[in-house]
Amino acid sequence: MIYLDYAATTPVDPRVLDAMLPYFRESFGNPSSVHRYGQKAESAIDAARETVASILHCRADEIIFTSCGSESDNLALRGAAMARKNESGAKQILTSKNEHHAVSKTAVQLEKEYGFSVGWLDLDAHGMVRTDALNKSIADQTALVSVMFANNEIGTINPIPELAKIAKARNVLFHTDAVQAAAYLDVNVEKLGADLISLGGHKFYGPKGVGALYVRKGTKLVAHNTGGGQEYGLRAGTQNVPYIVGFAEALRLAAEERETRIALVKPLRDQIIGRALEEIPDAQLTGHPENRLPNHASFVFKDVDGNLLLQMLDAAGFACSSGSACKTGNPEPSEVITALGFDRHWALGSLRITLGMDSTPAHVDSFLGALPGLVEKVRKLKMGK
Ligand SMILES: *Cc1c(COP(=O)(O)O)cnc(C)c1O
Repeated sequence: MIYLDYAATTPVDPRVLDAMLPYFRESFGNPSSVHRYGQKAESAIDAARETVASILHCRADEIIFTSCGSESDNLALRGAAMARKNESGAKQILTSKNEHHAVSKTAVQLEKEYGFSVGWLDLDAHGMVRTDALNKSIADQTALVSVMFANNEIGTINPIPELAKIAKARNVLFHTDAVQAAAYLDVNVEKLGADLISLGGHKFYGPKGVGALYVRKGTKLVAHNTGGGQEYGLRAGTQNVPYIVGFAEALRLAAEERETRIALVKPLRDQIIGRALEEIPDAQLTGHPENRLPNHASFVFKDVDGNLLLQMLDAAGFACSSGSACKTGNPEPSEVITALGFDRHWALGSLRITLGMDSTPAHVDSFLGALPGLVEKVRKLKMGK
């Protein structure tokens, strides 16, 4: 079996696992306890926070550990929207149809249940939010703008520094979901200029079930988990010490090895894009041709049942994705692909291939040897129906 779905999740790096293991048994204390067991756990969390802060170029007390990327998005959106409404009465949230559901469904909930309104920013043909789209939509009523750093389905990278600058000039909070981006892109808060940045451990060889939110000093959030005073009162609950340690180590390694990891995946990614478009009729790249994650290739194939293609690929030994959360049996095309303007004939035939640390040229060769034939087979089956 060849794994080509690193955007869905990555295996835990053995070095990360080694860093985590002592905190399950030897150093199992509750970081809020006064005794030495507690102190040891607390100092592990402090060190992890310092590590994350040094990579983001921020202060340690601007990092909030959470239970996953989704929770970071939820805390950012709901927390900031509520706080802003209390402060200034601003009730609009601007975001895009391309966002991960952790953002878009939270925005929709804020609209349905909490009296906010959502403005959907225009996307260009590559699924990018351009500065003119934000300039056009931002208003005095805007409480928060949320635009993802890099898209998980189509790999497109948004111009976050430019977008954040527009928000700042209007005194509007800016959040970016960097969960997918952090594996390959620099998440330096000074360069990005965002007030809130979401991260998730399992997209960069850390464990699942742990994330972080950067909260710029002075940014008010309403806590969505109330209880103990952990995480500066923003996220109650005894911290998951081993996972937080693993998160920090994984992010540290991602930053340290960024160039070598990119050098490994990018030529393989380019080979996949080049050959798939050349060898498969009625195939189009989705997302931006250049401004995209270096490990990310995504396509639509006309008149192909994407779910069936995934099953055939799986049977042939390749683990890929349609790119969306859409599972077998759900005949609806992805909202992200639809937002690019593809009709059903194209949108239902989406395929995402994402590479990672264990990818090899042989994997890619063998995949490219199989793909054109499988696409043809799935097309013929569809015609036969
Ligand atoms: C995976 C992902 C999430 C969700 O992260 P979890 O840790 O799985 O909750 C959010 N946003 C993006 C862009 C992602 O790729």
